[in-house]
Amino acid sequence: MKGGKLIIFSAPSGSGKTTIVQYLLKQKELNLAFSVSATSRVRRGEEIEGENYYFISTSEFIKHIKGDDFLEWEEVYRDNFYGTLKSEVERLWAKGKNVIFDIDVVGGLRIKKKFPNETLAVFVKPPSVDELKIRLKKRSTESEEKISMRIAKASVELATAPQFDKVIKNYDLDIALAEAHQLVADYVGIEKK
Ligand code: 5GP
Repeated sequence: MKGGKLIIFSAPSGSGKTTIVQYLLKQKELNLAFSVSATSRVRRGEEIEGENYYFISTSEFIKHIKGDDFLEWEEVYRDNFYGTLKSEVERLWAKGKNVIFDIDVVGGLRIKKKFPNETLAVFVKPPSVDELKIRLKKRSTESEEKISMRIAKASVELATAPQFDKVIKNYDLDIALAEAHQLVADYVGIEKK
């Protein structure tokens, strides 16, 4: 596989990485395209098939694992599989795009390891685990049990921050967005407007 750059944003759920990634995608000069992951989890609210995720069954997911179709995959939460299909990155590289990922820390670090020279791996740090709880509850798209599962994982994920190329603190969203924009612009080698 060969092509443009890979930009990874990883963080505990609720850290604001999705907001940051969506903002960066709007900055046309960065020439980014979003890597749509496959997942076996159920679709939430407004999510769109093929845009947010490829929603597939667990058995389809397992077929892809057996077929060696994933660049990386992870059972991020129990019975919820997520993975980056090789075909997805190839599709976006073929369009001449830099690929941006919104994936969990383990997956992010795996991609970095596979493409060390083409990857910028950014960790987004939330102000605190308590703040994460508040944000996830505000989002209120999931049950208490699922929220607790995400919080439990967050502490483990926070410990991986030093393995990333860059860490952005998302205490103030505007500052975090500007910082993310600058980092990616520098990495893809363009002058920021
Ligand atoms: P959510 O269910 O909130 O959409 O995602 C849960 C977690 O899975 C998030 O941290 C998200 O970034 C991560 N995730 C999404 N896609 C992938 C993927 O393809 N691979 C891995 N390893 N994690 C992913």
